[in-house]
Amino acid sequence: MKDRLCFNHREAPAVGLCRHCHRPYCGTCRVATPLGEFCCFDCSGRYAAFKSTWREPKLKFPWFGSFVTGLVLLVLLGLVAAWVGHRWLNIRALAPFDIISRIRS
Ligand SMILES: [Zn+2]
Ligand SMILES: [Zn+2]
Repeated sequence: MKDRLCFNHREAPAVGLCRHCHRPYCGTCRVATPLGEFCCFDCSGRYAAFKSTWREPKLKFPWFGSFVTGLVLLVLLGLVAAWVGHRWLNIRALAPFDIISRIRS
């Protein structure tokens, strides 16, 4: 960071780049947080908000996706089981559930 100067103090050498806006900052402007170092409190707040809104759908979506996939697979498996039971094993009780034969006929 030798050739960089603080975005706020034109005479002060920069000690790092803001994690949010990527502007160089000096030791006076530096805001250190567990998420990283920023040029101001505004940036640290915005970065924290950005992180929390990003994490939520990422955690929710795989659960929802696997739930829907599981449900679709269960319905498909039931349809195939009813078709096999009715047509191949001649189980009369499965006739109302044999939707595949009804579609094909
Ligand atoms: Zn910043
Ligand atoms: Zn500064």
